[in-house]
Amino acid sequence: METLFPDIHNLVLQQQSTIADLWTPQGWKFVFRRYLNDWEIPRVTEIFRSIDQFSGLEIGRDRLQWLGNSKGIFKVGAVYKKLNHPNLQLLKWPWKHIWKAKIPYKVSCFVWLLTKEAVLTQDNLMKRGITLCSRCFFCGKTAETVNHLFIQCKVTDQLWNLFLRRKSISWSMPGRISEALFSWEEAGTQAKNRSNWRIVPATIWWTI
Ligand SMILES: [Zn+2]
Repeated sequence: METLFPDIHNLVLQQQSTIADLWTPQGWKFVFRRYLNDWEIPRVTEIFRSIDQFSGLEIGRDRLQWLGNSKGIFKVGAVYKKLNHPNLQLLKWPWKHIWKAKIPYKVSCFVWLLTKEAVLTQDNLMKRGITLCSRCFFCGKTAETVNHLFIQCKVTDQLWNLFLRRKSISWSMPGRISEALFSWEEAGTQAKNRSNWRIVPATIWWTI
């Protein structure tokens, strides 16, 4: 309560009590040190609404409860599942930037593979059991991954800068291909010709 409702917590006299202590058979027993102002009543209602969701109150130390599952226990696997919800992926999938760009179909297919991080860079070859000492083909400084080769590498960066300097745009490169597509689209909202702007990432990646 101190964390979520600090304003109301300050008004309650039983600040050392747990929420369970405040429950009586007649209902919640909060004692405030003064009459509540009109604008504080909705906040108190909010507190009651939150705590009324808990059934079977038990006496014990207050603890954090994760809202991601019914047991209230945080698990990495559950977060992964939540973040990978198919609808969420669909919502965040840059299909428009891939299939609506005015580029040859084979280039769209290549960008789609890039976005799936499935083109045959050295890291993906290694995942298929090919033994390699992975080094970026351009800079040789780090392992060759899709995201490094196509967006993070210093050599690739020069290609992006060719376009960015011409338009005097300051742009920080995102970490993944899909994010780069979204971010490029956003950066181009003021561009005179949106369809020309949209083909730039595909042009760079196809050149590489
Ligand atoms: Zn590199």
